[in-house]
Amino acid sequence: MPTDLRLPTNAIVQPDKDRFLNEDNPFEAMMSRFDRAAELLDLEPGLYKVLRKPEKQLIVSCPVMMDNGEIEVFTGIRVLYNTSRGPAKGGIRFDTQVTLDEVTALAAWMTWKCAVVNVPFGGAKGGVICDPLKMSAGELERLTRRYTSGIMQLLGPDSDVPAPDVNTNERVMAWIMDTYSMQMRHTVTAVVTGKPIEMGGSLGRREATGRGCMFVVKEALAHLGMSVKGTTVAVQGFGNVGSVSAQLLAREGCKIVAIGDRSGAIYNPAGIDIDDAIAYVKKHKVLEGYGKGEKISNDDLLTLDVDVLVPAALENVITTKNAPKIRAKIICEGANGPTTAAADAILDEKGIFVIPDILANAGGVTVSYFEWVQDRGGYFWSEDTVNERLRDLMVKSFRDVLELSKQHKVNMRTAAYMLSISRVATVHRLRGIYA
Ligand code: NAD
Repeated sequence: MPTDLRLPTNAIVQPDKDRFLNEDNPFEAMMSRFDRAAELLDLEPGLYKVLRKPEKQLIVSCPVMMDNGEIEVFTGIRVLYNTSRGPAKGGIRFDTQVTLDEVTALAAWMTWKCAVVNVPFGGAKGGVICDPLKMSAGELERLTRRYTSGIMQLLGPDSDVPAPDVNTNERVMAWIMDTYSMQMRHTVTAVVTGKPIEMGGSLGRREATGRGCMFVVKEALAHLGMSVKGTTVAVQGFGNVGSVSAQLLAREGCKIVAIGDRSGAIYNPAGIDIDDAIAYVKKHKVLEGYGKGEKISNDDLLTLDVDVLVPAALENVITTKNAPKIRAKIICEGANGPTTAAADAILDEKGIFVIPDILANAGGVTVSYFEWVQDRGGYFWSEDTVNERLRDLMVKSFRDVLELSKQHKVNMRTAAYMLSISRVATVHRLRGIYA
C-alpha cells in the first residue's frame, strides 16, 4: 500500500504539506501552474495558503463480502478541494493506481475547471483502490454502496455531487444515487451526475466533453485565421472524449488523419471515416485490426505533421522528450494533464497554441452542471437546448481566457489558471474567513 494512504480510516484528516514535496507527483505538477498564475495575479499570501490546501480528505475502509464468501477490505478516498463557489463536483474512479496525491490533484483540477467555465461548483474527486475488471457486478455494487455509505457525511446535492470517472459509469452512479436516497428516505436524483437518462440524467452528457473540444478547436482556428474545412487532425485516445471529438470535428469539415487507442494508432492522409472506425471499435473493443490506414505507434501519432493534435487518453504523454518534435499548430487537451509542466515551455517556444485541459475538456462538467440544474428544477431540456447552452458557455469561456492571455501576454494555460483562481479568490475575499 502506498505510504500516503496509511492514515486513519473513517476520519477527516488534515492534509500534511510534506507529503506534497515530491517534484514528480501530480499534485506538484498542477500546483506549479497554480503558483505561476498566483504570482502573476499577485495573490495575497493568506489566500495563497488557503487555495494551496484541500478543504477535506476523507479515507474510508470498505469491507465487502466477495462472491467466494471471503471479506475483502478496500480503501476509498474522497477529497473536497474547495467549495467556496458551490457544491463540490468531481468524478469517482475505481482503479488499482488510486493514491491520495492523485485524487487531491484531480480535485484541485476540478476546482479550477469549474471556475474557468464559471459553473457554480467547487472541486472534488474520489477513488477506490480496486481492480474492477476482476470483480463481478455484484461485488462492484456492494463496494459502491459501502463506499457511498462511508463518504455519506460529505455527499449531497448542496455539498458534494460525484460523477463517473475511470472505470465507473452510469450504472455505478445509479447505485450511489440509490444508496444515498435510501439513507435520506426520499429520492435525491441531484446527488450525482452522469446518471442514466431514465432516472434524471441529461441528454447530451455522454458527448459533452468531445463536443466541448470541438467548440474550442473551432474558436482556436478562427483566432489563428485558419479555416475549419480541410484542417488536419490527429486524435490520441478513441474512447468517450477522443471518438466524439474526432466525429464532431469531422462533421464540421476537418480531416481526421490519425486516431489511436491503447492497441496502437492508424494514419491515413486521405482522412479516416470516423463513424466507420467507431462502429469497428464498438464491435472489436479496440482499433487493432482496423485496416483502413497505415499502422503507426502512439508516439508517432503525437509528432505527425497536422494542424490540430487532440491528446484524449492519458496524463503526461507530451513531455520534454517529444515536445521538441511536435508539429501541430494547435493542441486541444481533451485528457486531463496530458502535458507535463516541464514540456509547457517547449511548446510555448515553438509557438504552439495549447488549449489547456481545464478549458478544453470542461464540456463534461458543464453538462453535469446542466444535469444538476435539470434534476433540481424537475424539468428536462431537449438535446438541442443542452448543446446550444454548452456551445455558448464553451465559446464564452474560450474568449474570456484568450482575452486574459492577450492582456497579460501569457499562454492560454496560465490565463485559464489566472481566470479560475481569480474567480475562486474573489469569492473567498467576499465571504471572508469564518472564525
Ligand atoms: P475512455 O476510457 O472512454 O477512453 C480512453 C481511451 O484512451 C481509450 O480509447 C483507450 O484505448 C485509450 N488509451 C488508453 N491507454 C492508452 C495509451 N497508452 N495510448 C493511447 N491510447 C490509450 O476515457 P475518456 O472518458 O475518453 O477519458 C479520456 C481522458 O479525458 C482522461 O484523461 C479523462 O480524465 C479525460 N476527461 C474525460 C471526461 C469525460 O467526460 N469522459 C471529461 C473530462 C476529462
